[in-house]
Amino acid sequence: GGHNWEKKVSRSAQTRSGLTVLVTGAAGFVGTHVSIALKRRGDGILGLDNFNDYYDPQLKRARRKLLDRAGVFVVEGDINDSELLRKLFDVVAFTHVMHLAAQAGVRYAMQNPGSYVHSNIAGFVSLLEACKSATPQPAIVWASSSSVYGLNSKIPFSEKDRTDQPASLYAATKKAGEEIAHTYNHIYGLSITGLRFFTVYGPWGRPDMAYFFFTKDILKRRAITIYEAPDHGTIARDFTYIDDIVKGCLGALDTAKKSTGSGGKKKRAAQLRIFNLGNTSPVPVSELVSILEKLLKVKAKKKVLPMPRNGDVKFTHANISLAHKEFGYRPTTNLDTGLKKFVSWYQDYYSGSKKRVARAFSNI
Ligand code: NAD
Repeated sequence: GGHNWEKKVSRSAQTRSGLTVLVTGAAGFVGTHVSIALKRRGDGILGLDNFNDYYDPQLKRARRKLLDRAGVFVVEGDINDSELLRKLFDVVAFTHVMHLAAQAGVRYAMQNPGSYVHSNIAGFVSLLEACKSATPQPAIVWASSSSVYGLNSKIPFSEKDRTDQPASLYAATKKAGEEIAHTYNHIYGLSITGLRFFTVYGPWGRPDMAYFFFTKDILKRRAITIYEAPDHGTIARDFTYIDDIVKGCLGALDTAKKSTGSGGKKKRAAQLRIFNLGNTSPVPVSELVSILEKLLKVKAKKKVLPMPRNGDVKFTHANISLAHKEFGYRPTTNLDTGLKKFVSWYQDYYSGSKKRVARAFSNI
C-alpha cells in the first residue's frame, strides 16, 4: 500500500488511447506479451499476478523486469483477494479487463486439483464480482482453451461443436469458466469475450510445455519421451505463435462492446462471444522434434511410449473463421519460423553471457 504504490499504479494506468486495461496473469507467458503490446500502442495498463511457483519463479521475475522497462507495473496479488480487487477498481477506472491468470497445464491437475478450482473457478468468479460492481463496468476478455473440445472427434474444431467431454480437470475448469461467463453476462450485462487458445508457444514461454522442455532436454543430451496415440500415430497440436495470439487478443479487445450494466444491475443485453485462436495447421509431435533437432543441431534421444490417460487429447485443430470475420484474425507464423525465434531467445536467455542475456531482453 501507501503513496508510492498508488503513484506506480496511476503512472502505469495512464492512457493515451482512452483504453485502460487490467491484465491478470501479467507475469505469465501470454500476459507479458499482451501487456507490452497494449502499453506500446498507448493503452493504460495495470498488471496483477500472484507469482506462484507452478514453474520457475525466476522466469516470472525476469518477465516482470521486462514489463517494468516497458512501463507496466505488476501488482503482486491473487484474483481471489476481493478486497485488493476493490481497491484497484477504486483507484483506476478500467475500461477493459484482460483476464489471463489461471492454473494452466493439463497433467499437473492430477497432482494438484485444488489449484485449478482456486484460480480458474473461484478466482474467475471473484474477478467477475469485482467487474460487476465497478463503475464503469469493464468489458472482459479472457482466456479459455482449446482443451474444452476434449474428446470431440470432429476436426477442425469450431465454436459450435460440443464441449461436454473434457479430458482433464483443467479442461473442465475452463469449460466451467465459459458457463460462468454466460451467467454474468445474462444477469449483470457484462460484456465478455472468451478466447480458446490453441497451444501457444514462443520466446518467454512456459517451461512446462513440450516444445520448451524438449529444447532443454535435447541440449542437455537427455532422452525425451514421445507419446504415441493408438490410432493417429503421434499426437498432433495446432501450435500457435505468441505474436499471432497477441494480435487475436488485441482484436478481441478492440471489438468488445461496452458492458450495459451499472452498479451491479443489468440494463440491456450485452455481448457474450467465444472465439478459437489457433493456427489451423496441426503438426505431429514427431515433426516438432525434427524441427528442434535441426535448429539445435543436436540429434534427440527419443523414447516412444503409448499415450497414458493423463488428460492429453490426441489432436487439436482450430477453425478460425469466426475470429477472422469478427476482427480479421489471421495467423502468419508457421512452426519452423516460430520455433526459430523461440530457440534463439532460449539460447540467449540461458547462455550465461551478459551480452546475450541482454539481447534476450531486448527482443520483444
Ligand atoms: P502462465 O502460467 O504463464 O500465466 C498465468 C499467470 O497467472 C502466471 O504468471 C501465474 O502466476 C498467474 N496466476 C495464476 N493463478 C493466479 C491467481 N489465482 N491470482 C493471480 N495470478 C495468478 O500461462 P499462459 O500460457 O500465459 O496462459 C495464459 C492463459 O491462457 C491461461 O488462462 C491459460 O489457461 C490460457 N491458455 C494458454 C495456452 C497456452 O498454450 N499457453 C493454451 C490455452 C489456454
